[in-house]
Amino acid sequence: MEKISNISLIRERVKDLKRDGKTIGFVPTMGYLHEGHLSLVDEAKKSCDVVIMSIFVNPTQFGPNEDYDSYPRDIERDEALAKSRGTDIVFYPDVKEMYPSETLTWVEVEKITGVLCGAKREGHFRGVTTVVTKLFNIVQPDIAIFGQKDAQQAAVIHKMVEDLNMNVRIKLAPIVREADGLAMSSRNVRLSTADRKNAVILSQSLFAIKEGINEGKELSKLMEKAKQVILGTPGARLDYLEARSYPDLETVHACKDRCLIAIAVYFGNVRLIDNILIENPS
Ligand code: AMP
Repeated sequence: MEKISNISLIRERVKDLKRDGKTIGFVPTMGYLHEGHLSLVDEAKKSCDVVIMSIFVNPTQFGPNEDYDSYPRDIERDEALAKSRGTDIVFYPDVKEMYPSETLTWVEVEKITGVLCGAKREGHFRGVTTVVTKLFNIVQPDIAIFGQKDAQQAAVIHKMVEDLNMNVRIKLAPIVREADGLAMSSRNVRLSTADRKNAVILSQSLFAIKEGINEGKELSKLMEKAKQVILGTPGARLDYLEARSYPDLETVHACKDRCLIAIAVYFGNVRLIDNILIENPS
């Protein structure tokens, strides 16, 4: 596996690979890899000759009071994991490489970035869409894989690619969970032992809502009940629990063809998100 930190070098490599007729699958990450990230590599390998993973903790998607500085980082561990899963190239630029001067050009998707995480994290999606555009321009992938773990992000990227005619196919991969149901996240290591145990409340709430919907129960009652349970969970502070259409992210009052139940909960200063897509409820 190669590790490249320089934009002009990776451009050269991509040019050579394309000249040799290779297709490129791209997995953008912020590192501190876990099984969720590695499942995206598996997905990329299914349909592409070469897998490039980027590892870049992108400062422009963090707000001033967010966890950019404390976001976990360990490039050596990441390299070993990426390599073990068959990643061909890790692109690992530093901040100066990606943002050598003040950014005056931003990519911004409207409307669907104003709800859920976008309503709580001002400027977050503008940072995401801008860095993903830059990475697409640098890596020029045929396919890029994103996790459903960040369902709103995936919807936003899809819309950006459609609206701007970007020459890349977006694939969505399912959420990988710990044995107790907690969605894997790089931030999980920042939870205290007690909070880690209680964090199972996110997935439990989502699964309970899905079960209730499939039993024909009323959405608003299921959501209210879940909120009460979270309120009574030690250490948990609910940021949001919402039902939305997907990928349009309109508010829904009943779960019809396809709906997204999305949740964000703080434990201390660690913000966890999770979601479940419910298709054709019975
Ligand atoms: P991050 O490093 O958190 O920015 O995530 C990089 C990519 O991995 C994004 O497309 C995420 O949606 C995806 N991802 C993160 N956690 C998981 C998970 N538990 N299961 C599947 N994909 C994930």
